[in-house]
Amino acid sequence: MTTATETRGWFFEGTEQKAEQTYQVNHPHSGEILAHVAEGTKEMMTAAIASAHEAFPTVKNLSKSERAQILFQAAKLLEDEKEQAAKIISQEACKPIKAARSEVDRTVQTLQFSGEETKRLDGEYLSLDAAAGGEGRDAYTIYEPIGVVAAITPFNFPLNLTVHKVGPAIAAGNTIVIKPAEQTPLSSLYLADLLTRAGLPAGAIAVVPGEGPPLGEVMLSDDRVKKISFTGSPRVGKLLKNQAGLKKITLELGSNSAMYVDESVQDIEAVATKAVQGAFAYNGQVCLSTQRIYVHESQIEKFTKAFIEQTSKLQFGAPESEETDVSSLINQDSRVRVLQWIEEAHEKGAKVLTGGKAEGNGVLPTVLTNVPRDVNVSCQEVFGPVVLINEVKNADEALNAMNDSDYGLNAGVFTNNLQQALKLAHQLEVGQVLVNDVPTLRFDHMPYGGVKQSGYGREGVKYAVKEMAELKMISLNFS
Ligand code: NAD
Repeated sequence: MTTATETRGWFFEGTEQKAEQTYQVNHPHSGEILAHVAEGTKEMMTAAIASAHEAFPTVKNLSKSERAQILFQAAKLLEDEKEQAAKIISQEACKPIKAARSEVDRTVQTLQFSGEETKRLDGEYLSLDAAAGGEGRDAYTIYEPIGVVAAITPFNFPLNLTVHKVGPAIAAGNTIVIKPAEQTPLSSLYLADLLTRAGLPAGAIAVVPGEGPPLGEVMLSDDRVKKISFTGSPRVGKLLKNQAGLKKITLELGSNSAMYVDESVQDIEAVATKAVQGAFAYNGQVCLSTQRIYVHESQIEKFTKAFIEQTSKLQFGAPESEETDVSSLINQDSRVRVLQWIEEAHEKGAKVLTGGKAEGNGVLPTVLTNVPRDVNVSCQEVFGPVVLINEVKNADEALNAMNDSDYGLNAGVFTNNLQQALKLAHQLEVGQVLVNDVPTLRFDHMPYGGVKQSGYGREGVKYAVKEMAELKMISLNFS
């Protein structure tokens, strides 16, 4: 491993290679230069795809036990190197070190789940004589690897979300080429090196840092790429899907996740504590950040008071500090946009209960109330430390507000009323409903994906593996 201030390359055929052109990655909080990183070219991407294509038969022919072993070994190495990995994430993504450590812990688990799923990737027996004329035949299905998977990843979980693509790809027997977010290439370079040390054959993983449009174009147009696995904004996701043709594609996109607190909830303070975490973890730059909170009128006063109290305890600071809960946003554009959206909501009648101001390169945790549905902080994805708390008269009004969204990733419902929980769970237009948890909850083996503009297909290791494999049926005629 090199330190973050050095010149860094791209990962190709088992090692990090130098590049002629580099671009600068800066620390979002301090502004200092973190690294000069290889600026990927179209030629580099084509070479990475060719090499992954060539390595495919080697990976395909590894036994499931051998593939699982590589993933388990990578998990073990990462556990040993936790502090080093957390530091890389913390610096390039400006993630508070406590949160960066928890991302590493999750990544260890994602690698372990991937190893376990490698061993469970089994088909099924089919009795073909269930069809008239099918007598005298047995059939079974198997999952076959597909070839080269292209991963395009976002900045906000630069290690774990990349492993959500790499782990399942290896589990299924594929090879993978990664185009990491411009701001966060260092975690991917670290990951490729980690997997190589864990025994992954050379060529099976490549990392080409650089700009999305030119590198993505090569991934889309090369027939050797069999699947695009994208996590990022709906704008780019739609663009990729429109150009993917017959390639398989999975899109994990954004959201403006909502939760409801009903009249039956007793420990309001505990719910407020969870909701503050859900709203402000990693400055709200989480795809399932708790952005819209609807509270029954009988609970609104108590909930809002507890929420503001908890919010006021959050410490703003440098991501390296053990005390820091919230830090700078990923770039200046985000900071400017978030402040403009707060101002827009304020002008249209929302009340700013706390925050609403810039601090360094970030924005202080901001709580709004009486927010109209048509302003950006309500109907768009804020991707910043902003949450709205609006009062509702009943569950129907809450459901209507929660579903009044172009997105549909996770939703949370706090209630002690089983009937209400089930009714809302079935009527919410989202991929995942969390009863008595905030929508910001994700465990890495859960099926995970969105409806509406939040996505297409599912991740969560077991589900991602199947989306990276081809089902084949084999029939044996013994008549
Ligand atoms: P982004 O869409 O700007 O970038 C994501 C990746 O796409 C980057 O690697 C970028 O270089 C690349 N890219 C950009 N234009 C491209 C193009 N034309 N062709 C190919 N690639 C291109 O997203 P971001 O700002 O890095 O991340 C934030 C977004 O990601 C938010 O919307 C967030 O909700 C979403 N996200 C979703 C999930 C999920 O699991 N649903 C998880 C994390 C983040």
